[in-house]
Amino acid sequence: MESIQNNWKKTLDLLRGDLNPTAYESFIEPLVPQALDQSVLILGTEDQMILGVISNRYRQIIEAAATVAFGFNVSIRMELLEPKQDEQCEIPGTEPIPEAEDSFAPITNEELVQEKYLNPKYTFDNFVVGKSNEYAHAAAMAVANSASAKGRGRSQYQVLFLYGGAGLGKTHLMHAIGRYILANNKRKKVLYVTAETFTQELISAIGHQKLMPAFKKKYRKVDALLIDDIQFLEGKERTQEEFFHTFDELYTSDKLIVISSDRAPEKLETLDDRLTSRFMWNLKADIQKPDYETRIAILKRSAIFNNVEITPEVQSVIELIAEKITSNIREMEGSLMSILSYSTLLGRPISLSVAREALKESMESTPVTVDSIKRCVAKTYNITLKDMDSSKRARSVAFPRQIAMYLTKNLTDMSYPKIGEAFGGRDHTTVLYACNKMRDELQLNKDLEREIEAIKSQLI
Ligand code: ADP
Ligand code: MG
Repeated sequence: MESIQNNWKKTLDLLRGDLNPTAYESFIEPLVPQALDQSVLILGTEDQMILGVISNRYRQIIEAAATVAFGFNVSIRMELLEPKQDEQCEIPGTEPIPEAEDSFAPITNEELVQEKYLNPKYTFDNFVVGKSNEYAHAAAMAVANSASAKGRGRSQYQVLFLYGGAGLGKTHLMHAIGRYILANNKRKKVLYVTAETFTQELISAIGHQKLMPAFKKKYRKVDALLIDDIQFLEGKERTQEEFFHTFDELYTSDKLIVISSDRAPEKLETLDDRLTSRFMWNLKADIQKPDYETRIAILKRSAIFNNVEITPEVQSVIELIAEKITSNIREMEGSLMSILSYSTLLGRPISLSVAREALKESMESTPVTVDSIKRCVAKTYNITLKDMDSSKRARSVAFPRQIAMYLTKNLTDMSYPKIGEAFGGRDHTTVLYACNKMRDELQLNKDLEREIEAIKSQLI
């Protein structure tokens, strides 16, 4: 792996000279080499858009550079990485805490405060402002401005709580704040982390004489702390406790704290009241779903960013996407990228019919997952997603749960034990029982059959 890293560094050096700096920073630098399989170099990214752009535009040039750097003919394969959500991170409040394992990265002070954690694409300049996000944008600008100011006076804005649904631009704004502060005042220390990383680092530090003070120092000596997806801390009492102290210390020393969440503070049910009440302080800004005009503007910017000219055909494709996808900007951009790749692959110019074909393909190839099944069934039967994993036995909950297990068995290749695990850690016999029962009921009950067909048609 070490030699892959070295050779990848050499590849980057070659590419840096060949590409324009924005393209290099936005698309090439964030790639993470995963492995070398014979002569195939696997490169990973969590960003669908980067994946599309590389496959479309930069594959050949990367392969050419890698071939020189590695010393043999290299081809590349792109891989979309899942952002990890590791539920094992939960730390019960009172139980003894296990020793950190060696595999956890130790925390060093040098690790702090680097631009490299901030996606160069996520700047204020690249953020399209519309009604849905103008307040959040203004609030983000205000805190960024006040935090980059020199001198030590008490700043006007100290805490910003950004919230809104997935793919609406929270992370983008947080990175933009970080970049803005660093660009305007090099001396400021900015730290962006996801709440998940914060939790993992805390777990690795707990119980270690040296690591724990390093952890505290790392988080408490910054000028701006940006914590993304705070909802991850729900139910994790020990982590909340530590975050609370970090928060307090930064707050009393006039530092900036920006927090994002997928819900309003008062809806974060299992978050300590001390924390939620603090989130009420100062600024709170939500991001709504973008309206049609904003969706169009965002897609246009994306197209231009990818060197696509806005011809009337491209315009109509953009309108098609903006009509079809209304609530998640990440998905909108992903669709645009699939259409661009599809048209390049087929060597056909972008048009509405190419777009329809491309979207159909990408939809058909989306695998059905246990999560999508749970969501769909929960929605159909009007129960919560949590009910799917809960131990509630009321028929109104237990029956939809059994349907979801049955569908998971039929539509995915998960085994009975794996399905049990996915439904709140149930035994495989429970799943087996549910599947047999559903099979029997379906023989007798035509209404049920229709209901299940309707759910399937939404999933596939
Ligand atoms: P969240 O963190 O809320 O889930 P992200 O910040 O990751 O969402 O945004 C998802 C994608 O949508 C990113 O590629 C981001 O650049 C883009 N995006 C979101 N809002 C805007 C906007 N107003 N203008 C331009 N791009 C946006
Ligand atoms: Mg995010």
